[in-house]
Amino acid sequence: MIPLWTDLVDKQHFAVSELIRRYESCRHRRRSSIRGVKHFLKTGEGPILNQRIETTALRRDGTEFPVELAASAIRTGGTYTFYSFLRDITDRKKSEENLKDAIRARDEFISICSHELKTPVTSMKLQFQMAVRQLEKGDPSVQARESIEKRSYTAIRQLDRMTSLIEEMLDVSRISAGKLQLDKAPLDFHDLTHEVIERFSDQFVALGIPLEMRGKPVRAMVVGDRYRLEQVVSNLITNAIKYGSGRPIQISVAVVGEKVRLSVTDQGIGIAKENLERIFERFERAVRSSNISGLGLGLYISHQFVEAHGGRIEVDSEIGKGSIFTVELPLIPAA
Ligand code: ADP
Repeated sequence: MIPLWTDLVDKQHFAVSELIRRYESCRHRRRSSIRGVKHFLKTGEGPILNQRIETTALRRDGTEFPVELAASAIRTGGTYTFYSFLRDITDRKKSEENLKDAIRARDEFISICSHELKTPVTSMKLQFQMAVRQLEKGDPSVQARESIEKRSYTAIRQLDRMTSLIEEMLDVSRISAGKLQLDKAPLDFHDLTHEVIERFSDQFVALGIPLEMRGKPVRAMVVGDRYRLEQVVSNLITNAIKYGSGRPIQISVAVVGEKVRLSVTDQGIGIAKENLERIFERFERAVRSSNISGLGLGLYISHQFVEAHGGRIEVDSEIGKGSIFTVELPLIPAA
């Protein structure tokens, strides 16, 4: 046996211990089949006969693969002939594994979504309960009215958060089903970005985050789906706020050759090198979910939207120093 092992080790680079384990397991199974046959001949009992069992088989090169084994014994005259059929079920096992992975991913998705949706719902309920209590007191003072107003605005913000989470989920299922439809028309990407920034102005003020606009106003005509591109810009700004540690955020829109380039720079927590690609994948987050809320879908969706516009999205980041997210879109060629 020794020359065979050495041969295999050289050819396949298997660890010797693994080879010994496989060889032993094979030898053990051979011995137990012989024992089984002897037992059957003596007693007529053959528990594995006439049924299908799943086991593994060993190839000559030492690799294992899953098989379905069907064995039967047929008596002709005074002797038995044993038949056994082995079917390689590698493909079937692979698709079973894929299905299991898909189910696991779906369950994980449901649990993350439920958790994320529950947070704003709980907070909204609390705000409304407090507001109702104040209304019941019938206090006509200005302070009481202002407090109710404040609670209502907080509840509306939670509602907005829920709406955007639901939109993210819907977008992901549209993308996976290949049903993402873009409604493209010529638009100025510089103006679009500024409109989105305008919607965030209250939030920047409320959170005390300085926003710096860089670069001169430019004409940046692209063919795009306004709503989807707004989502991309909005996602990058939301992330800069979420992960920006409250420090200044810079945004610039510039024309570079035949492209328009949007850069969103923050000075926040940054992203480790090994996570830079992963964050554009579905459900991938580089932070512990308990710290800052999120589904890990925004960048995945943005990436899909930008690519569907013939553009690209990139990130450059240093942990603890901050991140720069860049989106480039092709400009409509000058006539
Ligand atoms: P979410 O923010 O909901 O988790 P995203 O897909 O928008 O999902 O982002 C994926 C991950 O990328 C985030 O969980 C975070 O770890 C990381 N990330 C995104 N933007 C930034 C940023 N500006 N700074 C640091 N990390 C970021």
